Amino acid sequence: MLTLERLGRRFPNGTEALRDASLRLQQGDFVALLGPSGCGKSTLLRLIAGLDAPDAGRIHWDGGQAPAPGEIGFVFQDATLLPWASAAENVFLPLRLRGVARGTAGPAVQAALARVGLDGFAAALPRELSGGMRMRVSIARALVSRPRLLLMDEPFAALDEFTRHGLQEDLLALWRELSCSVVFVTHSIYEACFLARRIVLMTPRPGRIVTEIESRLTASPE
Ligand code: ADP
Ligand code: ADP
Repeated sequence: MLTLERLGRRFPNGTEALRDASLRLQQGDFVALLGPSGCGKSTLLRLIAGLDAPDAGRIHWDGGQAPAPGEIGFVFQDATLLPWASAAENVFLPLRLRGVARGTAGPAVQAALARVGLDGFAAALPRELSGGMRMRVSIARALVSRPRLLLMDEPFAALDEFTRHGLQEDLLALWRELSCSVVFVTHSIYEACFLARRIVLMTPRPGRIVTEIESRLTASPE
């Protein structure tokens, strides 16, 4: 799907957030980027998403074509929902940005909410939902345009342990069902081992990929 070749990123203040980071991502992969705070996990994820550009190295997409908007779903640590908009409106947003008419989007929005266990909550405002439910809305929003690649930046870090475990199980089920690729940032070795098939270990100062580990704790979608 994607090859990262010796990516480097140095911020204007001199911080070398990433050096020589190389990685190959296959269709259907579930990769965890694991390491302590400041090792460049978020930076690497943002480079893959095209939200930031590398200073060195290159990103090669198989087929030569970078993904169109909507082909990558991004989930941030704090669900980042529009506070004044309902769950359905929040999930509709990426479709609206791509010019999909509200009238035709209903079934896709409903399906995305149902897929994350939120049927019946379409009209709810973010403040009326628990932290776990807000994260589910955020995941539904990332999935509504059926992305080939789902990028997740510590999505469950702010949740209590029970809620987190529930969402981890549900994310694995979603991944098996949708067979999209996932890159998941975490500093929890438990979470990396439980979720991912490949664990990419990173260290800080400068941010680098140290090694890659295969995890067989979870079953693959095949
Ligand atoms: P994490 O991913 O570990 O939860 P963040 O990605 O929010 O944390 O930030 C990681 C580190 O990067 C923090 O120390 C933060 O202060 C620093 N940081 C983030 N954005 C900026 C910025 N625009 N300028 C300077 N430092 C930043
Ligand atoms: P992680 O996600 O692993 O916590 P980050 O990719 O957020 O790490 O950050 C890597 C390093 O780059 C950290 O030292 C952080 O403080 C620094 N950093 C991140 N964003 C910025 C920024 N916009 N400007 C300056 N430094 C940054």
